[in-house]
Amino acid sequence: MRAVDAEELPRVTGSMLRRADEMCRRRLAKELHGARRHANRAGDARFAVANRVTADARLAHAAGGAPRAEAFVPPSDLAPEQQHLYRAAVRGYLAAFGDRPVRTAELGFSEPLPELGVQLVGDAGLAVEAPDGTKELRLLGLGGRRGGTLDAVDVNLALVRTRAWAPEGVRLVAVDLLDQRATVVEPELPGDRERALAWLAARVERLRAHAAHGGARAGSDCAWCPFVAGCEKHP
Ligand code: SF4
Repeated sequence: MRAVDAEELPRVTGSMLRRADEMCRRRLAKELHGARRHANRAGDARFAVANRVTADARLAHAAGGAPRAEAFVPPSDLAPEQQHLYRAAVRGYLAAFGDRPVRTAELGFSEPLPELGVQLVGDAGLAVEAPDGTKELRLLGLGGRRGGTLDAVDVNLALVRTRAWAPEGVRLVAVDLLDQRATVVEPELPGDRERALAWLAARVERLRAHAAHGGARAGSDCAWCPFVAGCEKHP
């Protein structure tokens, strides 16, 4: 039997799990089966700054210790307004976490789940461990409706992605770096994690069913849709 290549598994993101019921079935099917890797990624531009701050914070804590402001250098490949936002976000990160020595843990950008026949794709957040062994997953936001908040999908995904690294316990902290709004969740394990895994299995099944339907449905998903070419709704 041929071993399954993780890269060949359908790609499931947090956004797809959250929005599967309302999404255009055609777009969902194409994203699930990886067509987005080859499509126009202009729609991802708005996440560029948050992703960059998370990546730089990950590096800033790599050797352990509190983060130093010099570790954050505005990336020259970002547009001027994005660089301005980057500097504001770094100030927010240092205000929220600047006095806390921690060491980065690496969770990886994706995780194959062969038992469900998919791979979970996306930055799981900034995983850090304090000197006393306390483990924390930081989810950094930059404004918007969901910045600094954690909903059930966020918590379930965090519990799935941290299960090997933090089997005994993990603190979940969401912070909006622009206004310092924050939410902290301390899951009860193992029960909350078992429920998260059951939720994920059921959600992936539902997502597959919607993707199998595959019909185009014009609506808000059409904004930034990378699959508009060839779509019957936009001849
Ligand atoms: S353009 Fe709209 S209707 Fe067509 S696939 Fe994309 S989201 Fe669906």
